[in-house]
Amino acid sequence: MSDAGRRPFVGGNWKMNGDRGSAATLIRGVLGAIGADPEGIDVAVFPAFPYLLEVGSILSGDQSTVMLGAQDVYHQPNGAFTGEVSVEMLRDCGVSAVLVGHSERRHVIGEDDRTVNRKVLATLNGGMTAVLCIGETLEQREAGETDAVNERQTRLGLAEVSADDMDRVVIAYEPVWAIGTGRTATPEDAQDAHAKIRSVVAGLYNADVAERVRIIYGGSMKPDNAQALMAMPDIDGGLIGGASLKAADFAAIVRAGVGVAS
Ligand code: PEP
Repeated sequence: MSDAGRRPFVGGNWKMNGDRGSAATLIRGVLGAIGADPEGIDVAVFPAFPYLLEVGSILSGDQSTVMLGAQDVYHQPNGAFTGEVSVEMLRDCGVSAVLVGHSERRHVIGEDDRTVNRKVLATLNGGMTAVLCIGETLEQREAGETDAVNERQTRLGLAEVSADDMDRVVIAYEPVWAIGTGRTATPEDAQDAHAKIRSVVAGLYNADVAERVRIIYGGSMKPDNAQALMAMPDIDGGLIGGASLKAADFAAIVRAGVGVAS
């Protein structure tokens, strides 16, 4: 965590897991472990679409500041787009943050940078926070393309995003080979990637925007490695998959984020 005063952001990406009952149990467990109003940190949970209302009603019942997030969105406002969900629909359900371009959307579902950019713009135009996910595959890493991939996905993902709107962008650097694999980037390797991504943002905007934007790490972050990762100067939090499904583990990671910030 740097001296730049960036507020840490920790998000739990629940992916396509659980059911209505377990989603409710999980969010109650998270609130019980971290408190309804975690201080000095932004915390978000990203349940699957069908459980947003249930989780949202528990959050608002507890008057919690934990943000309700969605795992995806469609860029069109309404119409004949079977199966898709708009920004307005998400807002109607109490959502305030959206994951965009998660590697599973890019590499399993096949989203390209243009699609990701449309979703970022729609999310920001709808007044929400966009968590833009980027990161290289193992093949790209082994071919020495890590920096080029991160630069391209950052540049294209942020196309036409204004400097003012960058306050509502969080960039999640998630090396694809580290997601759900138990392999984590070393704090030094992750720091190196984050610093380069920050300099890409400086080139696209200016030094001030780059200093303010939060760049979080994702990829097998767990209670036992979170502190070392988030202590790095350009790592401003984490996007957590597997470990976010256990309230105690997610809470331990949130506490690590609070610890490095204070
Ligand atoms: C993710 O899906 O964004 C993620 C980081 O998953 P995991 O923590 O399981 O690697």
